[in-house]
Amino acid sequence: MTSDAISSAWPGFSHYQTALGDERAHCFPAQGANRHQIVIIGGGLAGLSTAWSLVERGVEDIAICEAGQPGDGASGRNGGFVFAGYSLPNQKLFEQAGPEAARELHRWTREAVSLVRHRIDHLAIDCQPNDAGVLLADWFHDDAALKAFADTMSEQLGFSLDWVGAEKCAQYIHSERYGSALHEPGSFHFNPLRYVNGLVKALQGHGVTIYGNCPVTKLETNPKSQGGSWSLDTGDAKIIADQVILTTGGYDTRLWPKLGRSIQPIATYVATTPPLGEQMGHLIPRGHAIYDTRFAFDYYRPLPDTRLLWGGRISIKARSPEAIRAVLKKDLIKVFPDLADVEFDHAWGGWMGYTRHQMPLIGQDSSGLWHATGFGGHGMAPTTMAGEVIAEALTGTPERLALFKQWQPVWAGGPVGRAWAQGTYWALNLKDYLRDRSALSRARRA
Ligand SMILES: Cc1cc2nc3c(=O)[nH]c(=O)nc-3n(C[C@H](O)[C@H](O)[C@H](O)COP(=O)(O)OP(=O)(O)OC[C@H]3O[C@@H](n4cnc5c(N)ncnc54)[C@H](O)[C@@H]3O)c2cc1C
Repeated sequence: MTSDAISSAWPGFSHYQTALGDERAHCFPAQGANRHQIVIIGGGLAGLSTAWSLVERGVEDIAICEAGQPGDGASGRNGGFVFAGYSLPNQKLFEQAGPEAARELHRWTREAVSLVRHRIDHLAIDCQPNDAGVLLADWFHDDAALKAFADTMSEQLGFSLDWVGAEKCAQYIHSERYGSALHEPGSFHFNPLRYVNGLVKALQGHGVTIYGNCPVTKLETNPKSQGGSWSLDTGDAKIIADQVILTTGGYDTRLWPKLGRSIQPIATYVATTPPLGEQMGHLIPRGHAIYDTRFAFDYYRPLPDTRLLWGGRISIKARSPEAIRAVLKKDLIKVFPDLADVEFDHAWGGWMGYTRHQMPLIGQDSSGLWHATGFGGHGMAPTTMAGEVIAEALTGTPERLALFKQWQPVWAGGPVGRAWAQGTYWALNLKDYLRDRSALSRARRA
């Protein structure tokens, strides 16, 4: 099978990349003939977390092949929200998995939030964690709907969210946009590229080989007589491996078509303001990360140097930094009109790998290929959980993996699926807009 990986290069550097500078670990390509017990394809958080979970279980001789540098994909360029759940909305998780399994599956992501936090401390990763946590702010000023949502989460999934009334919410976010909010206990936000970088250094320190600028262009099963079950071709090198774990997210759809055809690469965008100084403390005084109750929500958070990191939009297009600045600016001033004169400096985007059912693909296919991919727009905790689940299965405890069997690779529709995804996004955007209008006229009448 050959690879036609979407280039991990996205026009423009992220603020994370620029700020990390020389502290970023640099990984070199494989050369010549190599052999490893386990090879992980993809150096995002799914690949790195799986490697770390294997190291913790005493597995040796692990290598990671990354097309660019670790974190060049979604994992090093995202919003930095670490919170529970999957891309599949919680309500749908409950409907699809049933009460018992849904509770388990959701609990594992909450545990993964704590596990990421634990790893930061345990490995002394300098990734600027902010424990103020994540607020879900109500765009529609509809307390009854927000309360009903919180009650449902608690009843169905055992997922407790703290109520933040409108008055208190106004103290946490100085914007008239929102009504009340929900706070997720234990959630936090951090610099994802720094976290990736810390994991890379920890893995290298424990003997894991990480090949950078090393795209796997061909992956084949091997006759047993040649030793090792798999052959990987990276152009400059050949690698033989006993086990292969594919974690290429939204950055490859061709290397292993059975999986790749079920992944739809979807873009989302992020930008940062210059440091805002005291104004930042005025806008978000307690330092929360914030997203809102619309389908097409904004997501934003303050950075330690008083910049505001602002994210939003979903698209099938890779936009230029100029275009991203322009679209995100419109969103920013709807929430913080006082920032009308502030221009974003860095602006970038990244590819999320979406499956049709919106759940990640975690498992082993009929040819023996392990995989953890398709985490969509909600990946910091679930990739960490997936790493644990795959490592458990590879070391003889496959029970948790079995719960993911329900979500198999399903063709994502190719170009038609992409157009469909864009159309769905616009339709849901319109629905949000109409709900917003009716909330506004309700407020005027009151
Ligand atoms: C802009 C943005 C904001 C987001 N915000 C959040 C957030 O705040 N919180 C949250 O939980 N989630 C967020 N997400 C989603 C989250 O980032 C992803 O779900 C998660 O990072 C996926 O991790 P991954 O390891 O599966 O994929 P990736 O991080 O994309 O890693 C895949 C890697 O595979 C490599 N690769 C691809 N093909 C090959 C090949 N043939 N050979 C070798 N290597 C290859 C790529 O270069 C890439 O580095 C966001 C995503 C984006 C894009």
